[in-house]
Amino acid sequence: LDDRDGTIWLDGQLVPWREARLHVLSHGLHYGGSVFEGERVYGGRVFKLHEHSLRLVASAREMGFALPWNADELDAATREVVAVAGLAEGYVRPVAWRGSDTLRLVARDSSVHVAIAAWPWPQVFAAGPRGIRLRTSRWRRPAPDTAPVRAKTAALYALGSLAGQEAEEAGSDDALLLDHRGRLAEATGANLFLVIDGALHTPPPECVLDGITRRTVIALAHELGLTVVERHLDPAELARADEVFLTGTAYEVQPVTAVDALEYPIGAVTSALVEAYARTVREPRPAPTDEAAPAVAS
Ligand code: PMP
Repeated sequence: LDDRDGTIWLDGQLVPWREARLHVLSHGLHYGGSVFEGERVYGGRVFKLHEHSLRLVASAREMGFALPWNADELDAATREVVAVAGLAEGYVRPVAWRGSDTLRLVARDSSVHVAIAAWPWPQVFAAGPRGIRLRTSRWRRPAPDTAPVRAKTAALYALGSLAGQEAEEAGSDDALLLDHRGRLAEATGANLFLVIDGALHTPPPECVLDGITRRTVIALAHELGLTVVERHLDPAELARADEVFLTGTAYEVQPVTAVDALEYPIGAVTSALVEAYARTVREPRPAPTDEAAPAVAS
């Protein structure tokens, strides 16, 4: 990924792709003092850009540091990177980390760096929304008093990376993580929905990421007249779900065709939401937001 032509926005400047480097003694590398976002470009526009920029700022705050740029400035920088790349369809990765001023764990006054890269990357799962198979992981999402679960921080992604690797090694596409109490939580990079008797059921964002796609899909479901219930879900409820799907910036609305030994069809509700989401990300009008949902992750 580092050896390609292009431009990356780094601390306020556009630098050649190969020169966007950091020092090996960066605090963010050693102690997880890093936060990031994942965004998608559709038709040259970043979907829900401002919500992502706000979440990056909020994640940094949760991790005890302030970004040197506010959300509006991050929006502008992101648009610049996408425009310079001439990107019509792609992925954007903003990342912020504590610099190499000190390797003390407590680095209150350390420098904070921000980079934004964008590149063409049409699908996470090459097959597209044809459905993926999940395997329940032995790793669990930690409790809010065990880890900074609201922040989209590198510190938490060690778990997802490990869980995902184990799922792939066992022949699945992705891992399903339970939370610290053994309730259904989320996949490695997406939120979880069960369709039961025509209604959507999804865990509240207490120890899972408050996904921007999740909020969009809840709003779209309301527009379609569907009932959405946010509640704690026991793994046993997987047996009575008619359909299961995931939501995420990279996954979009992704049907789940199996969780362990349970199989699911790609049903009418999931298909309607796949279509509604695909339409929304390309619409010139602002996508619906769920009034009940908070605007930022914190
Ligand atoms: N959960 C996790 C752990 C994630 O990494 C992501 C991707 N950011 C999501 C859920 C979905 O969030 P969003 O819809 O904002 O991409």
